Amino acid sequence: MFSAFPFQNLSKLCIHTITTKSWPLEVAAEKYAKAGVKGITVWRDALAGRNPEQAGARIRDQGLSIVSLCRGGFFAGYSATERRAAIDDNRGAIAEAKALGAPLIVLVCGAVPGQKLSESRKQIQDGIAAILPDCIAAGVKLAVEPLHPMYADSRSAINTMAQANDLCEAIASPLVGVAVDVYHLWWDPLLEQEIARCGRMGKIFAYHVCDWRTPTIDFLNDRGLMGEGCIHLRQIRAWVEAAGFKGFNEVEVFSNRLWAMNQDEYLQQIVRSYSEFV
Ligand code: ZN
Repeated sequence: MFSAFPFQNLSKLCIHTITTKSWPLEVAAEKYAKAGVKGITVWRDALAGRNPEQAGARIRDQGLSIVSLCRGGFFAGYSATERRAAIDDNRGAIAEAKALGAPLIVLVCGAVPGQKLSESRKQIQDGIAAILPDCIAAGVKLAVEPLHPMYADSRSAINTMAQANDLCEAIASPLVGVAVDVYHLWWDPLLEQEIARCGRMGKIFAYHVCDWRTPTIDFLNDRGLMGEGCIHLRQIRAWVEAAGFKGFNEVEVFSNRLWAMNQDEYLQQIVRSYSEFV
């Protein structure tokens, strides 16, 4: 009852800037730190118009760890020109991550409507291989984030934990691992065993939390806060930690409903929900 914060251990709590997207980066960092949050994942749109080195220094001055930069990827494309443009954009993200001091970039790997998913997966592998030398030079890692299959048309052809593990195995670089996001993977029948497999490879690079609401009324922007949905968060966290993951639990919520509320109250609600359900 005499603890500095009214909630239980927040040492692994990280928040994605998109979660409180109306706050400019500096405001988000200050408010997160005051609420006892320890980590921040910076979305690239929050960095727009800023010098990433200065932005990184300012965030660290608040006592926050920069967990990752969100996001790169979108390697699939109908034409070689589009695929080259994606590779260039990812090189820009790597430079931004290095300047910001973010050790990791989360990849939404890409898909294009009408193209076979197997072809997109091949393009994704080629795209990651193309930017690996830049990652090595910058000392920046990449996390392949499998996306729920409802996004397989246009956002990612990597939809299960097994596919992400297979891709990492094929690329075989210590810099390429997986971001486990409960929103995308909670339904995966092989989740427990594939998390264990990912852990054996030393490739669980990030863990993202939120919840799945019933009914979900918007495919993109109706994520729930932890405890509002059907995901067994403690179970999945236990699997991830049993597989050796020691990093942050990153709260990543896109929600028109929650963006519409008072964001200071929302931040308190995030901290409470984290304490109770993650
Ligand atoms: Zn995520």
